Amino acid sequence: MKHTLLLATCCCLLPGLAPAQVTAIRAGKLVDPDSGKVLSDQIILIRDAKIENVGKGIAIPASAAVIDLGRMTVLPGLIDCHTHLADGAHDGEPMGQFKKTAAQVALESVPNARAMLESGFTTVRDVGVYRALGDVALRDAINRGDIIGPRMYVAGAYVTISGGAGALTGLAPDIQLPWDLHYGEANSPWEVRKVVRQLAHDGVDHIKVLSSGAVLTHGSNPKSQEFTPEELQAAVDEASHFGLRVEAHAHSPEGIKNAIRAGVASVEHATMIDDEGIALAKQRGTYLDMDIYDEECIQEGGKKGNVPKDFLEHDAQLGQMQRDNFRKAVAAGAKMSFGTDAGVCAYGTSGKQFAFMVKYGMTPMQAIQAATSNAADSLGHSDLIGSIKPGKYADIIAVAGDPLADIRILENVQFVMKDGKVYKQ
Ligand SMILES: [Zn+2]
Repeated sequence: MKHTLLLATCCCLLPGLAPAQVTAIRAGKLVDPDSGKVLSDQIILIRDAKIENVGKGIAIPASAAVIDLGRMTVLPGLIDCHTHLADGAHDGEPMGQFKKTAAQVALESVPNARAMLESGFTTVRDVGVYRALGDVALRDAINRGDIIGPRMYVAGAYVTISGGAGALTGLAPDIQLPWDLHYGEANSPWEVRKVVRQLAHDGVDHIKVLSSGAVLTHGSNPKSQEFTPEELQAAVDEASHFGLRVEAHAHSPEGIKNAIRAGVASVEHATMIDDEGIALAKQRGTYLDMDIYDEECIQEGGKKGNVPKDFLEHDAQLGQMQRDNFRKAVAAGAKMSFGTDAGVCAYGTSGKQFAFMVKYGMTPMQAIQAATSNAADSLGHSDLIGSIKPGKYADIIAVAGDPLADIRILENVQFVMKDGKVYKQ
C-alpha cells in the first residue's frame, strides 16, 4: 500500500512519467548459469526493463501482469558473440556489396535482426560489417524501438591490414573503393591507433581486429599472420583509452598467440590453435569464441554452388581441425564463449551450434554458460546480462522441455522477452 502511495506521489510530481510496468513470470524450471544449477518454481519480478527480484515464493504485486511459464524451462536470453547482422541479405560473396547501395544493405538487415531475436538471442556482439557503421545505425534503430532486434554491441568496421582478412579484396588495383568499404584499413601501429580513435568517436562498443588471413575473403590465406604484435598491442592499448575491448579474428597458430599476448578479450575462430595457444589463453583468461557449426553451412553452400571456389579451398581441412581443437580447449579448461559467425549460416539458426558444442566435449550446462554467463563476461557486461538476477536486464527466454537432457531444444525457443518486453509467446 505504502508503495502504491509513493508511486502515486511520484506520478504527481513528475507529470508525463508513466508508472512502472511490473511483470511477474512463473518459471517451472529456471536455469542459473552462474551456479550451474536448475531451480524449480521460481518467480521473476520485472519492473520496466530490469529484473527486480527472483526466487521461490516471492509475493506478486496485485498490479503485476503475470506470465505463466510453469510448464517451461526458463533461461537468460542467449548471447551470440560473433554475428554480422548488418551485411544485408548476405549471399556468401563479398563482392555482392558492390551491387547494392548502403541504403539497400541497411534495409535488408532489418529482418536479420528480427530473426536473431525471435530465435532466442537477446544480445549479439556484432563483429564487423562490410559497409562501415551500418551496424551502429542498426543498433541505434533497435534501441530507439524503430525496428525489432537483439541488444547489439557493434564494432563499426573491420580493423585490418590492406588486402587483409577484413578488406574487400579481389578488385583490380585501379578501382577506388568508397570510404565506407575500407574504413578500418591500417598499416602501422599509429594507423591502427588512428582507426581505433575514429571508431571510438563513431560510437562503437568494441574493436574487431584481424590477426590472420580468412577463409571467406578473396586472396586471403587463413594460415598466415596479418597484423604484427606491435599493431595488435597498439589496438588493445588505444581501445583501452576509450574503455573498449578488442576481439581478434585468428585462424593461424601464430595469429592466435600474437593476439592473446597483445591482450585481446577473445580470439574468434581459433581454428588452428596449438597446445601453446590453449595454455596461453588459459593463463591470460582470454576467451575462445569458436564457430564450430558454420562448417555445415559452408559445405552445404558449396554443394549448391553458393560459396566461391577459393573460399572452399581455404576451408578444406580447417572445419574438422577447428572442431578437434575445440574439444582440446574444452578439456584443457580454457574460457569458452558462444559465437556462430551468423550470416554464414542463415540468421535465426545460431541455436544449432549448441548440439555441436556438446558433441565436441561440453556438457549441456557448459554450452548454455558459453552463450549466457561466459558470453556476458567476455563482453564485459556481466552486471547487465547473462543470468536472471536482480538489476540485470529482463532478457528472458523459455523452451518446452529440458535442454540439459536434450540441448537441441534450444533450437526451438518459444518465449522471448527483451528489456521486459515480450517479443514471442
Ligand atoms: Zn565473422
